[in-house]
Formats: sequence, C-alpha cells, structure tokens
Amino acid sequence: MREFVKVNEAIEDYLKTIYNIQDEHGKVSTTMLAKQMNIAPSSATGMIKKLARLNLVTYEPYRGIQLTSHGRKVALEVLRHHRLIELYLVEALGMRWDEVHHEAEKLEHVISKSLIERIDSYLGHPAVDPHGAPIPDRHGKVESTPGVKLADLKSGQCGVVSEVNDRDSEMLRYLAELGIFPNARIKVLNIAPFQGPMSISIEGEERLIWIELAKSIFVKLLPENTEGCRDNQQKNKNVSDNL
Ligand SMILES: [Zn+2]
Repeated sequence: MREFVKVNEAIEDYLKTIYNIQDEHGKVSTTMLAKQMNIAPSSATGMIKKLARLNLVTYEPYRGIQLTSHGRKVALEVLRHHRLIELYLVEALGMRWDEVHHEAEKLEHVISKSLIERIDSYLGHPAVDPHGAPIPDRHGKVESTPGVKLADLKSGQCGVVSEVNDRDSEMLRYLAELGIFPNARIKVLNIAPFQGPMSISIEGEERLIWIELAKSIFVKLLPENTEGCRDNQQKNKNVSDNL
C-alpha cells in the first residue's frame, strides 16, 4: 500500500540532492548520495526505502536511484525556490554570491507559492541564479546544460563560464578574487602534469588554478577562432618569440 505523508524538509533535501547528482553524473548510487548528504551509507539506504514507499524514487541495483515523476516535481520546485531566493538576495538586498546559499537552504522549504511567484516576476522571470544554475519555471521545466568541467579542457581550448558550484562560500570568495563568474571568458594556456595547476587566462588576465578547483567550474566551449581565443594565442606567440 502506498503511504501518503506530507513531504517534509528532510525529504525535500534528499530529492533535491538526488536530482543534482543525476544532473551531474547521470546515475545516482547510495554511496554518492550518502557522501553528498554527509551521512552513513546505511542511513541513506533507509531513507531510499522510505522515499520508494512514498512513490518518490525507484531503486534497482544496476540502475541506481531514480526520481519518479512526483519526486522530480518536488525536487524541481525546491530548486526553483532555492535559486530564485539566491538571486533575489543578491539583486534586491545586495548580498554577495558567497553569502546567499546558506540562507536559501533554509528559506527554500518555507517560502509560500505566492511569494515565490512575486519574486519571480520582480526579477523578470530570470533563467539562471547568481552561480549560473538554471532556474526551473513554475511548470517544472528546466534547461539543463551545465557544459563541461574546466578541469577537462585541454591546453588552447576556450570557453565561457556557465556555472560554478555554490556550496562552499570560501571557494566562491576565491573565485570572485580570480574574476571567475558566469559569462567570464576563459582560455586554458597550459596544464602542469600530475594534477598540477592549470594556467588560464580569464578575460585576458593570466591566473593559476588547481585542477581540484577547476572541477567545480563548468564552461561552455567556444570555437577556437573566437575573438578572445585568437587574441590570447597571438599574445602567447609573441611571448614565445621573445624567448
Ligand atoms: Zn545555492
């Protein structure tokens, strides 16, 4: 028999996390979920059983955890709240992009439907949040094209930052110092071997960035004959001419 229980905060957080893992990795395992939620795998297993009883997820050993259409609807609604709240705090209250995630984590569960719709129209029905994550519309439609990880780019490749991971405020402050924001143009100049740093150009400024950090930054690739890419190639060529 199917249980009908009100979806509480904890359940909303699980569904949101399952959605995010699925979005990034395609498949969701119990281990991945436990790691992301910072809990023991046995607790995650217990929760998945509960979510399956509530018809919010399905679980099969080889296919992993999958959201049902009901589970996906709940996850997208919470993500819509989260991302609109983040953008509102930045745009209307002038908060920094590293301050808003923790506030949104709390408010996303309690904000009313009418207030979130007011915020959405105040902001002009925005497509992305301050970290570049897409905002689902009120029908649960979302454009999900996170791009490729900066860490996966090869030397000489060029792209535009589409999204950065929003969970770590300290990291966001550091990215801001480096000038890494959504829409910033990046070109990979050189990659040191053995997981060493990448030397990149951000809007023409040369910086070093560690591979581990570059895994939290998503970019949309640009063709190599794009203007910004060509300029840097020219600059590098001149540098090597002088050596
Ligand atoms: Zn956030």
